[in-house]
Amino acid sequence: MTANPSFRRTPFEILADLGIRDPADIDIEAIAEDCGATIRYRPLSGCAARIMGYKERAIITIDEASPRPRQRFSAGHELGHWMRDRGQVSFQCRSQSFVREWSAENPETRANRFASDLLLPAKMFRAQAQKKPVTLDTVRELGRLFCTSLTATAIRLVEYGDLPAVLVCNSPEKREWFIVNGEVRGKLFLEGRPGSGSVANALLRGELKNAQPAEVRSDAWFDHRNAHSHWIHEDSIPLSDGSVLSLLWWKDETQLVDVDNELEERAAWRSDFRKEE
Ligand SMILES: [Zn+2]
Repeated sequence: MTANPSFRRTPFEILADLGIRDPADIDIEAIAEDCGATIRYRPLSGCAARIMGYKERAIITIDEASPRPRQRFSAGHELGHWMRDRGQVSFQCRSQSFVREWSAENPETRANRFASDLLLPAKMFRAQAQKKPVTLDTVRELGRLFCTSLTATAIRLVEYGDLPAVLVCNSPEKREWFIVNGEVRGKLFLEGRPGSGSVANALLRGELKNAQPAEVRSDAWFDHRNAHSHWIHEDSIPLSDGSVLSLLWWKDETQLVDVDNELEERAAWRSDFRKEE
């Protein structure tokens, strides 16, 4: 197998080449320079970040008014565009792209993945997130450590955390995207919208301004026959664009154990049925 050409390096390869093992050493400016891109900070209107590349060099411009975690993520995102399409790249990325592009498979999602893998590398993140409660307080603590935004860090905690959780983003109009942890995938399915009884519902309807973490009935979020008799931990927060980010955690895993048993029973029934045929 031939090695990845230098301009196609993955975030994992870039960090390994630079010998970076600690979150505090993820210096985005130095990493970008190593990849042939210079980051500069300017006032920008109409977009949060942009990149202009030609041959082996690129200039990444980041909105100087953005908070530092967002600047870092925007820079990682633009670097993601550059590492895929070096030689001919020009992108202008709106701040919306950084929070809403997580589910679809397109250049913006790929650039977000690149930024996440670079700024919140799996191994370093797992080591820090292990056994921590799946709450926004934990997300804030990890965000401070990695200097990353609330949304980007929450996505990582659900993807790489060892506890069952789901992260959902709802705008007033629709569910924008969601991330399901491996412990929950294929077992429970989200309702289209957060139901009454959820904190997110009250936030979206303007009935609540400052949300607190709460234990809510699972049927406010999930479509399952026994969902009304189980409770999940909901930590919801309004975002600056009017959407609501909700971190759902099975602090009490009884519901998941029930679903596991049900799936096992169904599989056993199916295999008995086949034997009888
Ligand atoms: Zn982009």
